[in-house]
Amino acid sequence: MTYRAPINDILLALNHGAGLKAAVAAGHYGDFDGDITAAVLEEAGKFASDVLAPLNKVGDEHGITLDAGKVTTAPGWPDAYKRWTDAGWNAVSGPEAFGGQGLPLAINAACTEIWSASNVAFGLCPLLTLSAIEALYAHGSDELKTIYLEKLVSGEWTGTMQLTEPQAGSDVGALRTRAERMPDGSYRIKGTKIFITYGDHDMTDNIVHFVLARLPDAPAGTKGISLFLIPKFLVNADGSKGARNDIHASGVEHKLGMHASPTCTMTMGDHGGAVGYLIGEENRGMACMFTMMNQARLSVALQGVAIAERATQQAFAYARERKQGRATGVESGSSPIIAHPDVKRMLLTMRALTRAARALSYATAVALDRAQRSPDEAARRAAHERASLLTPVAKAFSTDIGSEVASLGVQVHGGMGYIEETGAAQHYRDARIAAIYEGTNGIQAIDLVTRKLPLAGGATVRAYIGEIRRTVEAVNATNDAAFGWTGVRLQDAVDALERATHWLLGSQRNDLDAALAGATPYLRLFALAAGGALLAEEALAAMRLAGNGADAAGRTAIARFFAENLAVQAASLERTVVQAADSVTDADAALA
Ligand SMILES: Cc1cc2nc3c(=O)[nH]c(=O)nc-3n(C[C@H](O)[C@H](O)[C@H](O)COP(=O)(O)OP(=O)(O)OC[C@H]3O[C@@H](n4cnc5c(N)ncnc54)[C@H](O)[C@@H]3O)c2cc1C
Repeated sequence: MTYRAPINDILLALNHGAGLKAAVAAGHYGDFDGDITAAVLEEAGKFASDVLAPLNKVGDEHGITLDAGKVTTAPGWPDAYKRWTDAGWNAVSGPEAFGGQGLPLAINAACTEIWSASNVAFGLCPLLTLSAIEALYAHGSDELKTIYLEKLVSGEWTGTMQLTEPQAGSDVGALRTRAERMPDGSYRIKGTKIFITYGDHDMTDNIVHFVLARLPDAPAGTKGISLFLIPKFLVNADGSKGARNDIHASGVEHKLGMHASPTCTMTMGDHGGAVGYLIGEENRGMACMFTMMNQARLSVALQGVAIAERATQQAFAYARERKQGRATGVESGSSPIIAHPDVKRMLLTMRALTRAARALSYATAVALDRAQRSPDEAARRAAHERASLLTPVAKAFSTDIGSEVASLGVQVHGGMGYIEETGAAQHYRDARIAAIYEGTNGIQAIDLVTRKLPLAGGATVRAYIGEIRRTVEAVNATNDAAFGWTGVRLQDAVDALERATHWLLGSQRNDLDAALAGATPYLRLFALAAGGALLAEEALAAMRLAGNGADAAGRTAIARFFAENLAVQAASLERTVVQAADSVTDADAALA
Protein backbone atom coordinates (compact mmCIF):
# COMPACT_ATOMS: atom_id res chain seq x y z
CA MET A 1 0.00 0.00 0.00
CA THR A 2 1.30 3.42 -0.88
CA TYR A 3 1.58 6.45 1.38
CA ARG A 4 -0.59 9.56 1.24
CA ALA A 5 0.71 12.55 3.16
CA PRO A 6 -1.95 13.49 5.74
CA ILE A 7 -1.90 17.16 4.80
CA ASN A 8 -5.00 18.15 6.80
CA ASP A 9 -3.72 16.44 9.94
CA ILE A 10 -0.33 18.07 9.56
CA LEU A 11 -1.81 21.53 8.94
CA LEU A 12 -4.13 21.30 11.94
CA ALA A 13 -1.30 20.10 14.20
CA LEU A 14 1.07 22.74 12.92
CA ASN A 15 -1.25 25.73 12.78
CA HIS A 16 -3.42 25.05 15.82
CA GLY A 17 -1.97 22.34 18.09
CA ALA A 18 1.57 23.74 17.82
CA GLY A 19 0.40 27.34 17.55
CA LEU A 20 2.13 28.28 14.27
CA LYS A 21 -0.78 30.46 13.17
CA ALA A 22 -0.88 32.38 16.45
CA ALA A 23 2.89 32.80 16.44
CA VAL A 24 2.79 34.17 12.88
CA ALA A 25 -0.07 36.53 13.82
CA ALA A 26 1.87 37.74 16.87
CA GLY A 27 4.83 38.66 14.66
CA HIS A 28 7.17 35.92 15.89
CA TYR A 29 7.91 34.78 12.33
CA GLY A 30 8.96 38.09 10.77
CA ASP A 31 8.06 38.23 7.05
CA PHE A 32 6.72 34.70 6.87
CA ASP A 33 2.91 34.81 6.66
CA GLY A 34 2.13 31.10 6.45
CA ASP A 35 0.23 31.36 3.16
CA ILE A 36 2.47 28.95 1.29
CA THR A 37 2.55 26.21 3.95
CA ALA A 38 -0.24 24.11 2.45
CA ALA A 39 1.13 24.40 -1.10
CA VAL A 40 4.63 23.32 0.00
CA LEU A 41 3.26 20.31 1.85
CA GLU A 42 1.02 19.29 -1.07
CA GLU A 43 4.04 19.25 -3.38
CA ALA A 44 6.15 17.36 -0.85
CA GLY A 45 3.34 14.83 -0.48
CA LYS A 46 3.21 14.26 -4.25
CA PHE A 47 6.96 13.74 -4.52
CA ALA A 48 6.93 11.38 -1.54
CA SER A 49 4.07 9.24 -2.90
CA ASP A 50 5.31 9.16 -6.49
CA VAL A 51 9.07 8.84 -6.09
CA LEU A 52 10.14 7.86 -2.57
CA ALA A 53 7.42 5.49 -1.36
CA PRO A 54 7.88 2.99 -4.22
CA LEU A 55 11.57 2.71 -3.30
CA ASN A 56 10.94 1.87 0.35
CA LYS A 57 10.57 -1.86 -0.17
CA VAL A 58 13.24 -1.91 -2.88
CA GLY A 59 15.71 -0.44 -0.41
CA ASP A 60 14.70 -2.89 2.30
CA GLU A 61 15.17 -5.89 0.03
CA HIS A 62 18.37 -4.83 -1.75
CA GLY A 63 20.08 -3.07 1.11
CA ILE A 64 23.50 -1.63 0.30
CA THR A 65 26.84 -3.18 -0.65
CA LEU A 66 30.41 -2.28 0.25
CA ASP A 67 33.14 -3.13 -2.22
CA ALA A 68 36.72 -1.83 -1.99
CA GLY A 69 35.68 0.99 0.34
CA LYS A 70 32.79 2.12 -1.87
CA VAL A 71 29.15 1.83 -0.84
CA THR A 72 26.53 1.25 -3.54
CA THR A 73 22.95 2.09 -2.60
CA ALA A 74 19.83 0.24 -3.76
CA PRO A 75 18.62 0.50 -7.38
CA GLY A 76 16.91 3.83 -8.09
CA TRP A 77 18.25 5.61 -5.03
CA PRO A 78 20.88 7.89 -6.65
CA ASP A 79 18.33 8.96 -9.27
CA ALA A 80 15.65 9.65 -6.62
CA TYR A 81 18.15 11.66 -4.57
CA LYS A 82 19.06 13.75 -7.62
CA ARG A 83 15.42 14.43 -8.43
CA TRP A 84 14.79 15.33 -4.80
CA THR A 85 17.66 17.83 -4.61
CA ASP A 86 16.93 19.21 -8.12
CA ALA A 87 13.42 20.00 -6.88
CA GLY A 88 14.98 22.07 -4.07
CA TRP A 89 13.80 19.93 -1.17
CA ASN A 90 17.14 19.88 0.63
CA ALA A 91 17.18 23.67 0.77
CA VAL A 92 13.75 24.32 2.33
CA SER A 93 14.98 25.79 5.61
CA GLY A 94 18.60 26.46 4.57
CA PRO A 95 20.07 29.95 5.02
CA GLU A 96 19.20 32.24 2.10
CA ALA A 97 22.75 33.63 1.92
CA PHE A 98 23.89 30.15 0.86
CA GLY A 99 21.10 29.30 -1.59
CA GLY A 100 18.51 28.12 0.92
CA GLN A 101 14.84 29.11 0.86
CA GLY A 102 14.94 30.34 4.47
CA LEU A 103 11.54 28.85 5.31
CA PRO A 104 10.75 28.15 8.97
CA LEU A 105 12.07 25.00 10.56
CA ALA A 106 8.46 24.03 11.32
CA ILE A 107 7.75 23.75 7.57
CA ASN A 108 10.84 21.66 7.06
CA ALA A 109 9.81 19.53 10.04
CA ALA A 110 6.53 18.75 8.29
CA CYS A 111 8.46 17.88 5.13
CA THR A 112 10.79 15.66 7.20
CA GLU A 113 7.75 13.77 8.45
CA ILE A 114 6.60 13.30 4.85
CA TRP A 115 9.99 12.07 3.53
CA SER A 116 10.43 9.74 6.49
CA ALA A 117 6.92 8.30 6.22
CA SER A 118 7.36 7.52 2.55
CA ASN A 119 10.87 6.13 2.94
CA VAL A 120 12.59 6.49 6.29
CA ALA A 121 15.98 5.13 5.18
CA PHE A 122 16.08 7.70 2.36
CA GLY A 123 15.00 10.56 4.62
CA LEU A 124 17.78 9.78 7.09
CA CYS A 125 20.46 11.02 4.69
CA PRO A 126 19.32 14.67 4.41
CA LEU A 127 18.46 14.67 8.09
CA LEU A 128 22.19 14.43 8.85
CA THR A 129 23.10 16.95 6.17
CA LEU A 130 20.76 19.39 7.93
CA SER A 131 22.69 18.95 11.20
CA ALA A 132 25.96 19.46 9.36
CA ILE A 133 24.65 22.68 7.79
CA GLU A 134 23.58 23.96 11.17
CA ALA A 135 26.95 23.23 12.80
CA LEU A 136 28.88 24.86 9.95
CA TYR A 137 26.58 27.88 9.70
CA ALA A 138 26.71 28.58 13.44
CA HIS A 139 30.38 27.85 14.14
CA GLY A 140 32.40 27.55 10.90
CA SER A 141 34.91 30.09 9.62
CA ASP A 142 33.88 32.29 6.68
CA GLU A 143 36.32 30.39 4.47
CA LEU A 144 34.79 26.98 5.28
CA LYS A 145 31.29 28.38 4.84
CA THR A 146 32.20 29.75 1.41
CA ILE A 147 33.63 26.43 0.24
CA TYR A 148 31.11 23.99 1.69
CA LEU A 149 27.81 25.55 2.70
CA GLU A 150 26.19 26.16 -0.66
CA LYS A 151 26.75 22.57 -1.80
CA LEU A 152 25.48 21.18 1.50
CA VAL A 153 22.40 23.42 1.38
CA SER A 154 21.55 22.38 -2.19
CA GLY A 155 22.25 18.73 -1.31
CA GLU A 156 24.89 18.43 -4.04
CA TRP A 157 27.08 17.12 -1.20
CA THR A 158 25.77 15.30 1.89
CA GLY A 159 27.00 15.50 5.49
CA THR A 160 27.71 12.95 8.20
CA MET A 161 27.92 13.35 11.97
CA GLN A 162 30.63 11.20 13.55
CA LEU A 163 30.64 10.83 17.32
CA THR A 164 30.44 7.13 18.12
CA GLU A 165 33.44 4.85 18.76
CA PRO A 166 33.41 1.33 20.20
CA GLN A 167 34.08 2.57 23.76
CA ALA A 168 32.24 5.88 23.34
CA GLY A 169 28.48 5.63 22.73
CA SER A 170 26.28 7.47 25.21
CA ASP A 171 29.53 8.49 26.90
CA VAL A 172 30.84 10.72 24.10
CA GLY A 173 33.60 12.03 26.37
CA ALA A 174 35.36 8.64 26.15
CA LEU A 175 36.22 9.08 22.47
CA ARG A 176 39.84 8.54 21.36
CA THR A 177 40.10 9.71 17.74
CA ARG A 178 43.19 11.94 17.61
CA ALA A 179 43.76 15.25 15.85
CA GLU A 180 47.18 16.86 15.33
CA ARG A 181 47.85 20.47 14.43
CA MET A 182 49.62 21.09 11.10
CA PRO A 183 51.76 24.16 10.31
CA ASP A 184 49.29 25.31 7.61
CA GLY A 185 46.47 25.57 10.16
CA SER A 186 44.77 22.32 9.14
CA TYR A 187 44.75 19.14 11.24
CA ARG A 188 45.51 15.45 10.62
CA ILE A 189 42.94 13.08 12.09
CA LYS A 190 43.50 9.40 12.90
CA GLY A 191 41.04 6.98 14.44
CA THR A 192 37.99 4.80 13.91
CA LYS A 193 34.33 5.72 14.15
CA ILE A 194 31.53 3.16 14.15
CA PHE A 195 27.85 3.20 13.17
CA ILE A 196 28.22 6.21 10.86
CA THR A 197 25.04 6.81 8.87
CA TYR A 198 25.63 7.39 5.14
CA GLY A 199 29.41 7.38 5.89
CA ASP A 200 29.82 6.41 2.25
CA HIS A 201 27.36 6.17 -0.67
CA ASP A 202 27.03 6.76 -4.41
CA MET A 203 24.32 9.44 -4.44
CA THR A 204 26.70 12.44 -4.50
CA ASP A 205 30.28 12.93 -5.66
CA ASN A 206 31.52 14.29 -2.34
CA ILE A 207 30.63 13.78 1.33
CA VAL A 208 31.45 16.25 4.10
CA HIS A 209 32.16 14.49 7.38
CA PHE A 210 31.81 16.25 10.73
CA VAL A 211 34.04 14.36 13.16
CA LEU A 212 34.65 14.71 16.88
CA ALA A 213 38.29 14.17 17.89
CA ARG A 214 40.74 14.99 20.64
CA LEU A 215 43.95 17.05 20.44
CA PRO A 216 47.09 15.64 22.14
CA ASP A 217 47.00 18.25 24.92
CA ALA A 218 43.20 18.23 25.34
CA PRO A 219 41.63 17.95 28.81
CA ALA A 220 39.95 14.62 29.58
CA GLY A 221 36.23 14.02 28.96
CA THR A 222 33.83 16.22 27.03
CA LYS A 223 35.85 19.38 27.76
CA GLY A 224 38.62 18.10 25.49
CA ILE A 225 36.65 17.38 22.33
CA SER A 226 36.97 19.36 19.11
CA LEU A 227 34.84 19.27 15.94
CA PHE A 228 36.48 18.88 12.52
CA LEU A 229 35.20 19.09 8.96
CA ILE A 230 36.77 16.31 6.88
CA PRO A 231 35.76 16.15 3.20
CA LYS A 232 35.82 12.79 1.43
CA PHE A 233 37.51 14.58 -1.48
CA LEU A 234 39.56 17.69 -0.75
CA VAL A 235 38.37 20.82 -2.51
CA ASN A 236 40.80 22.83 -4.69
CA ALA A 237 41.10 26.61 -4.41
CA ASP A 238 38.87 27.04 -7.50
CA GLY A 239 36.15 24.87 -5.91
CA SER A 240 36.86 21.80 -8.04
CA LYS A 241 37.18 18.31 -6.60
CA GLY A 242 40.71 17.57 -5.32
CA ALA A 243 42.57 14.53 -3.97
CA ARG A 244 40.87 11.65 -2.11
CA ASN A 245 41.16 12.27 1.64
CA ASP A 246 42.33 9.60 4.09
CA ILE A 247 38.86 8.68 5.42
CA HIS A 248 37.27 5.45 4.21
CA ALA A 249 34.37 3.16 4.92
CA SER A 250 36.04 -0.03 6.14
CA GLY A 251 32.88 -1.95 7.05
CA VAL A 252 29.08 -1.80 6.97
CA GLU A 253 26.62 -3.19 9.49
CA HIS A 254 23.91 -5.79 8.93
CA LYS A 255 20.89 -4.45 10.76
CA LEU A 256 17.39 -5.22 12.02
CA GLY A 257 15.92 -2.49 9.81
CA MET A 258 16.83 0.58 7.75
CA HIS A 259 18.58 -1.77 5.33
CA ALA A 260 18.93 0.88 2.64
CA SER A 261 20.76 3.33 4.90
CA PRO A 262 24.49 2.51 5.05
CA THR A 263 25.83 2.29 8.64
CA CYS A 264 29.59 2.45 8.24
CA THR A 265 32.78 1.92 10.16
CA MET A 266 34.95 4.87 9.16
CA THR A 267 38.73 4.58 9.28
CA MET A 268 40.95 7.65 9.28
CA GLY A 269 44.75 7.54 9.14
CA ASP A 270 45.71 4.54 6.96
CA HIS A 271 47.72 6.95 4.82
CA GLY A 272 49.09 9.46 7.31
CA GLY A 273 45.85 11.00 8.56
CA ALA A 274 42.74 12.63 7.16
CA VAL A 275 43.01 16.35 6.43
CA GLY A 276 40.54 18.14 8.69
CA TYR A 277 39.55 21.72 9.43
CA LEU A 278 38.51 22.97 12.84
CA ILE A 279 34.90 24.09 13.35
CA GLY A 280 34.60 26.62 16.16
CA GLU A 281 37.35 26.59 18.78
CA GLU A 282 39.68 23.82 19.93
CA ASN A 283 38.17 21.79 22.81
CA ARG A 284 34.77 23.41 22.25
CA GLY A 285 33.37 20.71 19.96
CA MET A 286 30.61 19.74 22.37
CA ALA A 287 29.30 23.32 22.36
CA CYS A 288 29.02 23.07 18.55
CA MET A 289 27.20 19.76 18.89
CA PHE A 290 24.77 21.24 21.42
CA THR A 291 23.78 23.93 18.89
CA MET A 292 22.35 21.36 16.57
CA MET A 293 21.26 18.71 19.02
CA ASN A 294 17.74 20.07 19.51
CA GLN A 295 17.10 20.13 15.79
CA ALA A 296 18.65 16.69 15.18
CA ARG A 297 16.58 15.18 18.00
CA LEU A 298 13.44 16.79 16.60
CA SER A 299 14.19 15.24 13.21
CA VAL A 300 14.49 11.80 14.80
CA ALA A 301 11.24 12.42 16.70
CA LEU A 302 9.63 13.02 13.31
CA GLN A 303 10.91 9.66 12.10
CA GLY A 304 8.88 8.11 14.93
CA VAL A 305 5.79 10.11 13.95
CA ALA A 306 6.34 9.22 10.29
CA ILE A 307 6.62 5.48 10.72
CA ALA A 308 3.64 5.53 13.07
CA GLU A 309 1.60 7.39 10.42
CA ARG A 310 2.64 5.00 7.66
CA ALA A 311 1.86 1.94 9.81
CA THR A 312 -1.50 3.45 10.79
CA GLN A 313 -2.54 4.19 7.21
CA GLN A 314 -1.67 0.65 6.22
CA ALA A 315 -3.47 -0.92 9.19
CA PHE A 316 -6.66 1.07 8.50
CA ALA A 317 -6.64 0.00 4.85
CA TYR A 318 -6.10 -3.65 5.75
CA ALA A 319 -8.75 -3.62 8.49
CA ARG A 320 -11.34 -2.27 6.03
CA GLU A 321 -10.61 -5.04 3.52
CA ARG A 322 -9.92 -8.12 5.62
CA LYS A 323 -13.09 -9.98 6.58
CA GLN A 324 -13.26 -12.32 9.56
CA GLY A 325 -16.08 -13.29 11.92
CA ARG A 326 -19.33 -11.42 12.23
CA ALA A 327 -19.68 -8.16 14.13
CA THR A 328 -22.41 -7.88 16.76
CA GLY A 329 -25.79 -7.12 15.20
CA VAL A 330 -24.81 -8.24 11.68
CA GLU A 331 -27.05 -11.03 10.50
CA SER A 332 -25.19 -12.68 7.66
CA GLY A 333 -21.80 -12.86 5.99
CA SER A 334 -18.50 -11.96 7.57
CA SER A 335 -17.54 -8.46 8.66
CA PRO A 336 -14.43 -6.42 7.93
CA ILE A 337 -12.20 -6.66 11.00
CA ILE A 338 -12.48 -2.87 11.51
CA ALA A 339 -16.02 -3.62 12.80
CA HIS A 340 -14.70 -5.59 15.79
CA PRO A 341 -14.27 -3.52 18.96
CA ASP A 342 -10.82 -4.92 19.75
CA VAL A 343 -9.53 -4.00 16.28
CA LYS A 344 -11.15 -0.57 16.59
CA ARG A 345 -9.27 -0.15 19.87
CA MET A 346 -5.97 -0.96 18.19
CA LEU A 347 -6.63 1.40 15.30
CA LEU A 348 -7.72 4.24 17.57
CA THR A 349 -4.66 3.73 19.76
CA MET A 350 -2.45 3.94 16.67
CA ARG A 351 -4.13 7.09 15.39
CA ALA A 352 -4.25 8.81 18.80
CA LEU A 353 -0.59 8.09 19.66
CA THR A 354 0.56 9.18 16.21
CA ARG A 355 -1.32 12.46 16.36
CA ALA A 356 -0.18 13.22 19.91
CA ALA A 357 3.46 12.59 18.95
CA ARG A 358 3.02 14.78 15.85
CA ALA A 359 1.52 17.59 17.92
CA LEU A 360 4.37 17.43 20.44
CA SER A 361 7.00 17.38 17.71
CA TYR A 362 5.52 20.36 15.87
CA ALA A 363 5.15 22.28 19.14
CA THR A 364 8.89 21.72 19.58
CA ALA A 365 9.57 22.89 16.02
CA VAL A 366 7.57 26.10 16.50
CA ALA A 367 9.43 26.79 19.76
CA LEU A 368 12.76 26.30 17.95
CA ASP A 369 11.66 28.71 15.23
CA ARG A 370 10.55 31.30 17.75
CA ALA A 371 13.85 30.96 19.59
CA GLN A 372 15.55 32.12 16.39
CA ARG A 373 12.99 34.35 14.71
CA SER A 374 11.14 36.29 17.41
CA PRO A 375 12.06 39.98 17.22
CA ASP A 376 11.97 40.30 21.00
CA GLU A 377 14.93 39.05 23.08
CA ALA A 378 12.81 37.92 26.07
CA ALA A 379 10.45 35.99 23.75
CA ARG A 380 13.46 34.32 22.07
CA ARG A 381 14.85 33.24 25.45
CA ALA A 382 11.50 31.86 26.64
CA ALA A 383 11.06 29.99 23.36
CA HIS A 384 14.56 28.53 23.63
CA GLU A 385 13.74 27.20 27.10
CA ARG A 386 10.41 25.81 25.86
CA ALA A 387 12.19 24.05 22.99
CA SER A 388 14.83 22.68 25.37
CA LEU A 389 12.11 21.33 27.67
CA LEU A 390 10.05 19.72 24.91
CA THR A 391 12.87 18.28 22.79
CA PRO A 392 13.66 15.19 24.92
CA VAL A 393 9.93 14.54 25.38
CA ALA A 394 9.23 14.77 21.65
CA LYS A 395 12.26 12.63 20.77
CA ALA A 396 11.67 9.83 23.27
CA PHE A 397 7.86 9.70 23.16
CA SER A 398 7.59 9.88 19.37
CA THR A 399 10.22 7.22 18.78
CA ASP A 400 8.82 4.94 21.49
CA ILE A 401 5.35 5.19 20.05
CA GLY A 402 6.82 4.72 16.57
CA SER A 403 7.74 1.19 17.62
CA GLU A 404 4.52 0.63 19.58
CA VAL A 405 2.31 1.77 16.73
CA ALA A 406 4.26 -0.24 14.16
CA SER A 407 3.88 -3.27 16.44
CA LEU A 408 0.12 -2.71 16.63
CA GLY A 409 0.19 -2.43 12.84
CA VAL A 410 1.63 -5.93 12.65
CA GLN A 411 -1.05 -7.13 15.08
CA VAL A 412 -3.90 -5.65 13.03
CA HIS A 413 -2.56 -7.59 10.02
CA GLY A 414 -2.52 -10.87 11.98
CA GLY A 415 -0.26 -13.46 10.35
CA MET A 416 0.03 -11.28 7.24
CA GLY A 417 1.78 -8.73 9.42
CA TYR A 418 4.50 -11.11 10.48
CA ILE A 419 5.47 -12.13 6.96
CA GLU A 420 7.28 -9.54 4.87
CA GLU A 421 4.85 -9.26 1.95
CA THR A 422 2.55 -6.58 3.40
CA GLY A 423 5.32 -4.20 4.54
CA ALA A 424 3.93 -3.98 8.10
CA ALA A 425 6.95 -5.92 9.34
CA GLN A 426 9.34 -3.50 7.65
CA HIS A 427 7.83 -0.54 9.51
CA TYR A 428 8.27 -2.44 12.77
CA ARG A 429 11.92 -3.24 12.00
CA ASP A 430 12.71 0.25 10.67
CA ALA A 431 11.14 2.00 13.67
CA ARG A 432 13.31 0.39 16.33
CA ILE A 433 16.53 2.35 15.80
CA ALA A 434 15.00 5.78 16.39
CA ALA A 435 14.73 5.10 20.14
CA ILE A 436 18.47 4.36 20.21
CA TYR A 437 20.34 6.86 18.07
CA GLU A 438 20.65 10.62 18.56
CA GLY A 439 20.84 9.92 22.33
CA THR A 440 19.01 6.83 23.59
CA ASN A 441 15.56 7.40 25.04
CA GLY A 442 16.93 6.61 28.49
CA ILE A 443 19.41 9.46 28.06
CA GLN A 444 16.56 11.75 26.87
CA ALA A 445 14.62 11.03 30.08
CA ILE A 446 17.69 11.78 32.21
CA ASP A 447 18.21 15.00 30.26
CA LEU A 448 14.57 15.99 30.88
CA VAL A 449 14.72 15.33 34.61
CA THR A 450 18.21 16.58 35.46
CA ARG A 451 18.70 19.48 33.02
CA LYS A 452 15.35 20.59 31.68
CA LEU A 453 13.10 20.57 34.76
CA PRO A 454 15.49 22.85 36.67
CA LEU A 455 15.54 25.42 33.79
CA ALA A 456 14.84 28.92 35.16
CA GLY A 457 14.47 27.42 38.64
CA GLY A 458 11.52 25.27 37.48
CA ALA A 459 9.64 28.23 35.98
CA THR A 460 9.85 26.83 32.41
CA VAL A 461 8.10 23.58 33.26
CA ARG A 462 5.58 25.29 35.55
CA ALA A 463 4.63 27.72 32.77
CA TYR A 464 4.07 24.78 30.44
CA ILE A 465 1.92 22.94 32.95
CA GLY A 466 -0.09 26.16 33.33
CA GLU A 467 -0.75 26.14 29.58
CA ILE A 468 -2.01 22.57 29.69
CA ARG A 469 -4.38 23.58 32.49
CA ARG A 470 -5.81 26.37 30.34
CA THR A 471 -6.58 23.87 27.58
CA VAL A 472 -8.35 21.62 30.09
CA GLU A 473 -10.41 24.60 31.25
CA ALA A 474 -11.32 25.39 27.64
CA VAL A 475 -12.49 21.80 27.09
CA ASN A 476 -14.64 21.97 30.23
CA ALA A 477 -16.04 25.33 29.17
CA THR A 478 -17.47 23.85 25.96
CA ASN A 479 -19.86 21.63 27.95
CA ASP A 480 -19.91 19.49 24.81
CA ALA A 481 -21.04 15.92 25.45
CA ALA A 482 -18.85 14.72 22.56
CA PHE A 483 -15.81 15.28 24.79
CA GLY A 484 -17.11 12.71 27.29
CA TRP A 485 -14.69 12.52 30.25
CA THR A 486 -11.88 14.33 28.38
CA GLY A 487 -11.73 17.33 30.71
CA VAL A 488 -11.80 15.21 33.88
CA ARG A 489 -9.17 12.75 32.67
CA LEU A 490 -6.84 15.47 31.43
CA GLN A 491 -7.29 17.32 34.70
CA ASP A 492 -6.17 14.17 36.56
CA ALA A 493 -3.21 13.78 34.21
CA VAL A 494 -2.02 17.36 34.64
CA ASP A 495 -2.41 17.12 38.42
CA ALA A 496 -0.27 13.96 38.37
CA LEU A 497 2.29 15.71 36.20
CA GLU A 498 2.46 18.66 38.53
CA ARG A 499 2.95 16.52 41.64
CA ALA A 500 5.57 14.30 40.00
CA THR A 501 7.42 17.38 38.70
CA HIS A 502 7.45 18.94 42.14
CA TRP A 503 8.71 15.69 43.66
CA LEU A 504 11.47 15.31 41.07
CA LEU A 505 12.68 18.88 41.47
CA GLY A 506 13.06 18.20 45.19
CA SER A 507 14.40 14.65 45.03
CA GLN A 508 17.23 15.60 42.66
CA ARG A 509 18.74 17.56 45.48
CA ASN A 510 18.28 14.82 48.09
CA ASP A 511 18.49 11.54 46.20
CA LEU A 512 19.69 11.72 42.61
CA ASP A 513 19.42 7.96 42.02
CA ALA A 514 15.73 8.03 42.95
CA ALA A 515 15.15 10.79 40.38
CA LEU A 516 17.11 8.88 37.73
CA ALA A 517 15.14 5.70 38.42
CA GLY A 518 11.89 7.55 37.73
CA ALA A 519 13.08 9.49 34.68
CA THR A 520 11.62 7.26 31.95
CA PRO A 521 8.14 6.85 33.51
CA TYR A 522 8.14 10.60 34.18
CA LEU A 523 8.84 11.36 30.52
CA ARG A 524 5.90 9.19 29.46
CA LEU A 525 3.68 10.87 32.06
CA PHE A 526 4.74 14.28 30.71
CA ALA A 527 4.02 13.21 27.12
CA LEU A 528 0.59 11.78 27.98
CA ALA A 529 -0.54 14.95 29.74
CA ALA A 530 0.94 17.26 27.09
CA GLY A 531 -0.13 15.09 24.15
CA GLY A 532 -3.67 14.84 25.53
CA ALA A 533 -3.89 18.61 25.88
CA LEU A 534 -2.55 19.19 22.36
CA LEU A 535 -5.13 16.81 20.86
CA ALA A 536 -7.85 18.61 22.80
CA GLU A 537 -6.48 21.89 21.46
CA GLU A 538 -6.73 20.51 17.91
CA ALA A 539 -10.32 19.37 18.56
CA LEU A 540 -11.27 22.82 19.85
CA ALA A 541 -9.72 24.39 16.77
CA ALA A 542 -11.55 21.96 14.49
CA MET A 543 -14.83 22.95 16.20
CA ARG A 544 -14.10 26.63 15.52
CA LEU A 545 -13.25 25.81 11.90
CA ALA A 546 -16.16 23.42 11.38
CA GLY A 547 -17.69 25.83 8.91
CA ASN A 548 -14.63 25.28 6.72
CA GLY A 549 -15.28 21.54 6.58
CA ALA A 550 -12.76 20.43 9.17
CA ASP A 551 -13.61 17.11 10.70
CA ALA A 552 -14.54 18.34 14.19
CA ALA A 553 -16.33 15.14 15.22
CA GLY A 554 -13.34 12.96 14.32
CA ARG A 555 -10.89 15.25 16.13
CA THR A 556 -13.03 15.35 19.26
CA ALA A 557 -13.39 11.57 19.22
CA ILE A 558 -9.61 11.12 19.03
CA ALA A 559 -8.99 13.66 21.82
CA ARG A 560 -11.56 11.83 23.93
CA PHE A 561 -10.13 8.41 23.15
CA PHE A 562 -6.65 9.62 24.11
CA ALA A 563 -7.83 11.19 27.37
CA GLU A 564 -10.01 8.27 28.46
CA ASN A 565 -7.77 5.39 27.35
CA LEU A 566 -4.18 6.66 27.36
CA ALA A 567 -3.86 9.80 29.50
CA VAL A 568 -5.44 7.83 32.36
CA GLN A 569 -2.12 5.99 32.67
CA ALA A 570 -0.71 9.22 34.14
CA ALA A 571 -1.90 8.36 37.65
CA SER A 572 -0.08 5.03 37.78
CA LEU A 573 3.00 6.58 36.18
CA GLU A 574 3.02 9.20 38.92
CA ARG A 575 3.02 6.42 41.50
CA THR A 576 5.88 4.73 39.66
CA VAL A 577 7.93 7.93 39.65
CA VAL A 578 7.28 8.96 43.22
CA GLN A 579 6.83 5.70 45.09
CA ALA A 580 8.68 3.06 43.13
CA ALA A 581 12.21 4.49 43.11
CA ASP A 582 13.26 2.31 46.04
CA SER A 583 12.12 -0.81 44.23
CA VAL A 584 14.75 0.02 41.60
CA THR A 585 17.55 1.42 43.72
CA ASP A 586 17.24 -1.26 46.44
CA ALA A 587 16.94 -4.20 44.05
CA ASP A 588 20.58 -5.31 43.85
CA ALA A 589 19.58 -8.77 45.05
CA ALA A 590 17.30 -9.18 42.05
CA LEU A 591 20.07 -8.11 39.67
CA ALA A 592 22.60 -10.65 40.97
C1 LIG B 1 21.76 2.31 12.65
C2 LIG B 1 22.59 3.22 13.50
C3 LIG B 1 22.96 4.46 13.01
C4 LIG B 1 23.76 5.31 13.77
N1 LIG B 1 24.20 6.50 13.23
C5 LIG B 1 25.15 7.20 13.89
C6 LIG B 1 25.80 8.33 13.27
O1 LIG B 1 25.50 8.70 12.14
N2 LIG B 1 26.76 8.97 13.96
C7 LIG B 1 27.15 8.58 15.21
O2 LIG B 1 28.05 9.20 15.77
N3 LIG B 1 26.55 7.53 15.83
C8 LIG B 1 25.58 6.84 15.20
N4 LIG B 1 24.98 5.75 15.80
C9 LIG B 1 25.37 5.41 17.16
C10 LIG B 1 24.27 5.71 18.18
O3 LIG B 1 24.15 7.10 18.33
C11 LIG B 1 24.65 4.97 19.47
O4 LIG B 1 24.43 3.60 19.22
C12 LIG B 1 23.84 5.47 20.66
O5 LIG B 1 24.24 6.77 21.02
C13 LIG B 1 24.01 4.56 21.89
O6 LIG B 1 25.34 4.29 22.15
P1 LIG B 1 25.79 2.76 22.35
O7 LIG B 1 25.31 1.97 21.20
O8 LIG B 1 27.25 2.73 22.64
O9 LIG B 1 24.98 2.28 23.62
P2 LIG B 1 25.44 2.47 25.15
O10 LIG B 1 25.90 3.86 25.38
O11 LIG B 1 26.37 1.36 25.49
O12 LIG B 1 24.06 2.25 25.91
C14 LIG B 1 23.51 0.96 26.19
C15 LIG B 1 22.31 1.15 27.13
O13 LIG B 1 22.76 1.74 28.37
C16 LIG B 1 22.06 2.95 28.64
N5 LIG B 1 22.99 3.92 29.23
C17 LIG B 1 24.25 4.23 28.80
N6 LIG B 1 24.78 5.15 29.62
C18 LIG B 1 23.87 5.45 30.56
C19 LIG B 1 23.83 6.34 31.68
N7 LIG B 1 24.82 7.16 31.95
N8 LIG B 1 22.69 6.36 32.43
C20 LIG B 1 21.64 5.57 32.13
N9 LIG B 1 21.64 4.72 31.10
C21 LIG B 1 22.72 4.65 30.32
C22 LIG B 1 21.54 3.42 27.28
O14 LIG B 1 20.38 4.23 27.42
C23 LIG B 1 21.25 2.10 26.57
O15 LIG B 1 19.98 1.64 26.92
C24 LIG B 1 24.16 4.91 15.07
C25 LIG B 1 23.75 3.66 15.57
C26 LIG B 1 23.01 2.82 14.80
C27 LIG B 1 22.67 1.45 15.34
